[in-house]
Amino acid sequence: MAAVATKTPVTVAYGDGIGPEIMDATLRILDAAGARLDIERIEIGESVYNRGLQSGIEPSSWEALRRTKVFLKAPITTPQGGGFKSLNVTVRKTLGMYANVRPCASLHPYVATKNPNMDLVIVRENEEDVYGGIEHRQTQDVVQCLKLISRPGSERVIRYAFEYARAHASKKVTCFTKDNIMKQTDGLFHETFDEIAKQYSEIENEHWIVDIGAAKMVDTPEAFDVLVMPNLYGDVLSDVAAQMTGSVGLAGSANIGDHCSMFEAIHGSAPRRAGQNLANPSGLFHGALLMLSHIGQGDVAESAHNAWLRTIEDGVHTYDIFEEGVSKQKVGTREFAAAVVARLGQEPQHLKAARYAKQAEMHLALRPERTRSHKERVGIDVFIDAPGAHPDTHAAQIRRLPINGAKLTVIANRGTKVWPHGDPDTFWSDHWSCRFECDSESFSGKDAMQIVGALDAAGFDVVKTEGLFTFDGARAFSLAQGQ
Ligand code: NAD
Repeated sequence: MAAVATKTPVTVAYGDGIGPEIMDATLRILDAAGARLDIERIEIGESVYNRGLQSGIEPSSWEALRRTKVFLKAPITTPQGGGFKSLNVTVRKTLGMYANVRPCASLHPYVATKNPNMDLVIVRENEEDVYGGIEHRQTQDVVQCLKLISRPGSERVIRYAFEYARAHASKKVTCFTKDNIMKQTDGLFHETFDEIAKQYSEIENEHWIVDIGAAKMVDTPEAFDVLVMPNLYGDVLSDVAAQMTGSVGLAGSANIGDHCSMFEAIHGSAPRRAGQNLANPSGLFHGALLMLSHIGQGDVAESAHNAWLRTIEDGVHTYDIFEEGVSKQKVGTREFAAAVVARLGQEPQHLKAARYAKQAEMHLALRPERTRSHKERVGIDVFIDAPGAHPDTHAAQIRRLPINGAKLTVIANRGTKVWPHGDPDTFWSDHWSCRFECDSESFSGKDAMQIVGALDAAGFDVVKTEGLFTFDGARAFSLAQGQ
């Protein structure tokens, strides 16, 4: 008797809007291609939100995700307002899905694109950066959002990008940051990239400042292979890249974590197209291909992918990519899936055939923790809410206060120095940062608090403080513009 191949447990959610239709189509192709899946279905999205659960997911569903560790998810509709949380962000962050992987390849000349030779993969950091959504309004006129970047968070996603490149025989990994401005946060991401890159000597590596890098990606996407970047840049640029291939409706993505990984289309639930057998299932189908590769069924992914390429090549297109003169047959969701199933076993004749090498084991363990640096407190930035006053007046008042162990060295407004010797043309908001740097042997947390207390007692409205530190003697805080 032939051995029965073991099925991989997978959690599946059909989602909202066009979700159920594109999930049906996707699973139909996977099934016909011989995918070995043991599917457990959960409910997420609108119906769950409507039951009053602000997260959009039932507590019991977490158990299924933790057990199967693999989640194929159709798009959902997030209700507007009302304190409802984005389910995607909740699932990604709760289950530690640190890398978002989005391949973007054009299908020229079968899908209209201005970028016929594009074939790149964006690996986006998925948990950190400004996506903590830690925001505070501090004065009448100024709000802030905290950007947090960690060394292990950066290392995990960067290491994943190099391992992905190695597994897919990619020649180059490119990092985008803005570390000419954000020398601490983006600087850490870039520094970590340089350190990890040294361990992959066979893979070329390069770094671009994100603005000119993005311009180059849009102009000459064929210059890139695998790209890795912090969350916000990756969020924006992965949509740009998907659109450059001709349609955001074609791209899928993987959210990779140590404990659970989630696979999906990049588009939303397109409620206006729901229930009409119109939607293109290709985005979710591509998410499912990434899933098959992830669970070691690259053979099935290869066969399904090549049948899909052949279908596109044969001009069998859904409405969103249909073009007179290029497309041959306009089909609905179900008919598209049937066309792919009918081509299983075939390969594209002109487009490059998909090849899924047996997934090499990825080495994703983090480096052992480095010896902890020697950290020293050297001052404090105290932010005050003060409408209408002149910085010289603030400085004069502050310098009269009884402050021990530190002196006022600079006042900045939104990062630009305004005292001493401020420029009369600099605009001032009501949000001032007063920097106190120690002028004695030691400066403690208690000394920092004494400064805050003295300012408060003098009537200053203190809205925030930041400690100033050195690590192994190196300054670990930014200077104000003009300082
Ligand atoms: P959308 O991606 O749903 O739709 C944008 C446009 O693309 C629409 O014109 C739509 O008809 C078209 N489109 C999208 N997918 C298509 C497909 N497969 N085939 C053909 N056409 C397609 O974006 P939206 O309208 O801004 O959002 C709708 C809902 O989806 C919102 O509630 C939003 O919160 C949610 N959303 C969910 C996810 C997710 O679950 N991952 C992602 C993005 C948006």
